[in-house]
Amino acid sequence: MSERPEISLVMPVFNEVASIDELMARCVSTLTKMGRTFEIVAVDDGCSDGSTELLLKHHQAEPRLRIVRLVRNFGQTPALYAGMANARGNIVVIIDADLQNPPEEIPKVINKLEEGYDVVQGWRQMRYDSLWRKTASRMLNLFVSCAIKSKMRDLGCGLKAFRREVVDRMVAFRHHSRYVPAEMVWLGAKVAEVQVEHQPRGAGKSKYSLWNLLHLNFDMLASVTTTPIKLIGWLGIFLSVIGFGMSLRIGYMRITLGLYSELATVAALFFFLAGVQMIAMGLVCEYVSRIFVEVQNKPYYIVKDVIE
Ligand code: UDP
Ligand code: MG
Repeated sequence: MSERPEISLVMPVFNEVASIDELMARCVSTLTKMGRTFEIVAVDDGCSDGSTELLLKHHQAEPRLRIVRLVRNFGQTPALYAGMANARGNIVVIIDADLQNPPEEIPKVINKLEEGYDVVQGWRQMRYDSLWRKTASRMLNLFVSCAIKSKMRDLGCGLKAFRREVVDRMVAFRHHSRYVPAEMVWLGAKVAEVQVEHQPRGAGKSKYSLWNLLHLNFDMLASVTTTPIKLIGWLGIFLSVIGFGMSLRIGYMRITLGLYSELATVAALFFFLAGVQMIAMGLVCEYVSRIFVEVQNKPYYIVKDVIE
């Protein structure tokens, strides 16, 4: 297949042997019904449960299934990027391989995209995951939305659709710790949300433990914003002002009332010195955050078009 298919369906697969048969059947049937040319790009993210062999078997019968095999398990986002880099379609749809996003919802995100958006983000109004998982997600959503200044309701939904140009720009990035919603905002993509169904995991287990999630979420947050370290300098200024205020009060009491407290003086000195230290650290952080932005090596700007 050398010609571009209209649609590429990209799915990261990590040990999902129990859902692959049904997943393939439902995806092929849905895409065929749409009457468009398509390919399915399954990314084997270091599977060890027989998913690889099963995918290869499907590939024998369905040449529109392409398999991108990673040398080991890299994680969902790297797997997604590997899939997008190998997808050839004019529209790229991504979906989880565990059937939590019903493949029958694919036309919904594609139709929305074709109304003239760059990216369509699925939004799970009813979400079937454990309570702690949903709570953690909601908190992260709030935090990250603030950090990346986006108003999307469900950043974590596995079903999304992208226009070719957006995918080309996304796969050109070279930095690590990527986070798809943040890249979309950075790229100035026109994003729409569409409500999609969500189902409980049919088979297999979620690949994310609590520890895993904490680690990943911190990584995500640290990769999209330098705000936390920039707060250090402000905290330093705040502490110094308190220390300064306390010393003014000590001076006033000494002069007008003749009172003097050693404890208050030490406390004032403490606040002031801690503040100065933090301001110094904040300055260092300011440079560190610049280094961080530079090493990401993102383009300085991206031209949309030039009108002659
Ligand atoms: N996944 C992956 N590599 C990983 C972890 C997950 O490719 O290291 C895939 C997984 O096979 C699934 C999708 O990412 O297709 C979402 O994973 P999962 O369903 O475990 O996450 P949850 O639904 O619990 O958020
Ligand atoms: Mg899942």
